[in-house]
Formats: sequence, C-alpha cells, structure tokens
Amino acid sequence: MPEPSIYFRDRIATSDDEGHRKWVFARLPKGRHTTRRHWVALVLILLFVVTPFIKVAGEPFILLDVINRHFILFGRVFWPQDTYLLGIAMLTFVVFVVLFTVVYGRLWCGWACPQTIFLEIIFRRIESWIEGSAAKQQVAHQKPKTSGWYLRRLLKIIVFASVILVAVNVFLSYFISADSMISAWRTGFTDYHRTMIAMIVMTAAGTFVYAWFREQACTILCPYGRLQGTLTDNDTIMVVYDYLRGEPRGRTKDGDGRCGDCIDCHNCVQVCPTGIDIRNGTQLECINCTACIDACDAIMTRLGKPVGLIRYASEKGISKGTKQHFTGRMAFYTTVLTGLLIFLSVLIIKRTEVETTILRTPGILFQRNEDGTFSNLYNYKIVNKTRKDINLSFKLLQPKGELRLIGNQPSVMNGASAEGVFFILIDSSMVVTHEMKIEIGLFDDGHQVELLESSFIGPMDKSKP
Ligand code: SF4
Ligand code: SF4
Repeated sequence: MPEPSIYFRDRIATSDDEGHRKWVFARLPKGRHTTRRHWVALVLILLFVVTPFIKVAGEPFILLDVINRHFILFGRVFWPQDTYLLGIAMLTFVVFVVLFTVVYGRLWCGWACPQTIFLEIIFRRIESWIEGSAAKQQVAHQKPKTSGWYLRRLLKIIVFASVILVAVNVFLSYFISADSMISAWRTGFTDYHRTMIAMIVMTAAGTFVYAWFREQACTILCPYGRLQGTLTDNDTIMVVYDYLRGEPRGRTKDGDGRCGDCIDCHNCVQVCPTGIDIRNGTQLECINCTACIDACDAIMTRLGKPVGLIRYASEKGISKGTKQHFTGRMAFYTTVLTGLLIFLSVLIIKRTEVETTILRTPGILFQRNEDGTFSNLYNYKIVNKTRKDINLSFKLLQPKGELRLIGNQPSVMNGASAEGVFFILIDSSMVVTHEMKIEIGLFDDGHQVELLESSFIGPMDKSKP
C-alpha cells in the first residue's frame, strides 16, 4: 500500500481510486500575493470590458470580424491580404509562449488566464456568498441534499449565468463591434440571429464550465497546461515548496532529532483550487496561483518563522538552497522575447494601408513613337486595406515624362483590389541607358500614399531603328 502522499503519481488529485470525481472545496486565500492578483485581475477585467468601446477615427480599436475576414488591431485595419502578417504573428506568439514558459513557468495561468480570473477571483467569491465557506460547502456536499441546498444551487447557477452572459456580450463585441452588439439588443436580435445563437451557446458552455467542470478545464482540457511538462525544467521559476527547509514535516522531531519548518497543517492544500499538495513537488495540475504561498506565509508568520517556505523559485535554486536571482539565462530569454515583440510591432507599423505592385508587361520590350519618345507598358495592381473607398491617381515623378493610363483613374473599394495598365512615355533624349530606374507616385486626393519604383527599358543603341 503506497503512502497517501505518493498517490499523486498515479492519478490527478481530483479523482478517487475508482476514477470518480473528487470535488475541490478550496478555501479563499488571503495574503500579499492574493491582493496583488486581485489588482491585476481588476485591471485586466477593466481592459477587457472597456476595449470594445474604444474607437480610433470612428473605427473600433480592436475588431476581429472573422466572418467578413477583416480585422482591426490597435486602430489599424487588416484584410485577408495580410495573412502573411497573421502567420508571422502566430509564429511569434508560439515562440513567445515557449520561451516565456521556459523561464517564468505558468505565470500566465496564475495571474492572467481568464479561466483563473473568472473561477478563482469572481465565481468562487460569489459561491462563498451564496453557499457559505469552503468547509460549509464540503459538509453540505456530503450530507443528503435539502431543498435549501437545491435553492442555493439554483440561485448560484442563475447568478453565474448572468455574469457569464455579460462577459459573453463583451467578448462578442470584439467580433461584431460594440455598436452592433448594442443594436442587436435594441432590435431584439432580429438581424442578429447568429449572434444570438453564439451568445446562448457560449453562456450555456460558460455556466457549465464554471458551475460544474471548473478546475478540470486546467487539469484535463487546457493544451497549454498539458505542455508544461515539456516546457519547464529545473531552472524554470515556479511555485515550489522548500523541502530542505520544510522537511521532516510535523510538530515533533524525527528519530535523528530533526524537525523541519513545515508543521503539516495542510493549509496549503486547503486553499489549492486544483486540490493538490505542493509539498509533493511540481505537478501538472499546479496553475501557480500562489494561494498556497499566502496560506503558508500566514502560518510561518504566526509561528515567528521566515515566510517563503512555499515561494517562487526554481527547482535548482531549492535543491542548492540558493535565493532566486535574475540569471543570465533569464536575461537572454527576456531579451529574445522583447526582440520578438519589437519585430512584430515594426512589421505592423511599417505595413502600408494601400499596397501597389507595378510590373512591366511581360513579353513587351519598348516602343519607339513618332513623337520622339520611347514607351513601356506596365501592369498595376492596387490593394486597398483601408475602411473607405479610394480614388487614386498615378504620376511619374522621375525622370521627366508622361504616364498615360489606359481607362479611368483607379477607384478601389475598401478591402478590395483593382488592376489595370498604363504607358510610360519618356523623350528619347532622356533615355540614357538600356535600363533605367523610374519613380512613380500614387496619390489619393492629391496626397501621396506610396512611392513606387520600377524600370524603363530603352534600346541598346538609340541610333538603330
Ligand atoms: S501551509 Fe506550510 S506549514 Fe502548513 S502544511 Fe503547507 S507547507 Fe507545511
Ligand atoms: S499548488 Fe499552490 S500554486 Fe499550485 S495550484 Fe495549488 S495553490 Fe495554486
């Protein structure tokens, strides 16, 4: 029969020997990390709620209109033509996540993941107001269910669903815009059937997750959580138990007359939202929420011992008994992470809103005209990435000559593209080499939006006809 403390190697903490679910009744933590996490959560929730209402030049600050395949990020419009940017952004994101996790572990899970913020900081509190403390909930769970229990459970589900409904409305505003969401409610969703279906499905799914599925989203479902074992190593900063200082645990000395700082009070286990005992070492279920740090710090303070028996540290730091420092490895990875973010920002900033390509028409060299000019034929393609229709005009800037458009000046609808052809005519006296560089300006309402370069072909020997 294995010791109870090593059961964790065989199964997750929220499952019993038969594989049935063991409900977690986590006590609400208190302490400096919890206070900080609440502030971070408040800022993130505010950002989440306010962002869809922010507008830049009349357009949403962020809009992810997947159905119509157009996106606005930080006030800049992106169309399907920007797929390459999306690819680079996703690649950067993956590299960022990997490097960040290698160095800082599951900082995201504990401090910024919506699942943790909603479950641990919002819903667990609502639950304790309606159903009482974790201990009360546990006792009620083990006893036969009364009508009072069912009523409280119903009230809890209604309150959960109401909060989730608000969150889902905000979330959907990122995809159809806050204005559309408000209009959907005003018109009773008459023109927004898909939005209404999405809202109902997501609210039902959210209520199911927070009222029933809960911590299993982190321990079973989340792919990021599953990747932790491969992304972290002995140098990764995580919430860890200082076994050198804590063991042997208990209030009495062991056979060698030794007694560690851990008094085996189980406070760290009682506050753990995934039901694990951090003293068993790093486990996949640990979301690095810091609740056990605060619980243990409170005990250490009461005992008059230094806090930090459970703390942020690396496995190597604990085994060597050293304090966590900002190492060269951390500095290197952080520099790479910053570099990646700068690289992506530059790509986004440098991206032009009107993208034009000009190519000399293949198969045609040059023409000698009767008026003493040489001409080349060009094909152009303009992609309008703005949210407005634009009427553009071309002008030859370098060298002196004429740009003769075939057809009308290009008019490009928002998010669309236009193609056409034009001639460039240059006086033969200006054609000094067989192939020369030319510069063409693209103008929108007299304002130059792009400077384009191409080449102009002339004869090898001008004297020959
Ligand atoms: S809270 Fe601290 S002292 Fe209590 S069991 Fe956990 S590690 Fe040991
Ligand atoms: S072990 Fe500690 S940090 Fe990890 S999930 Fe449990 S309470 Fe949070």
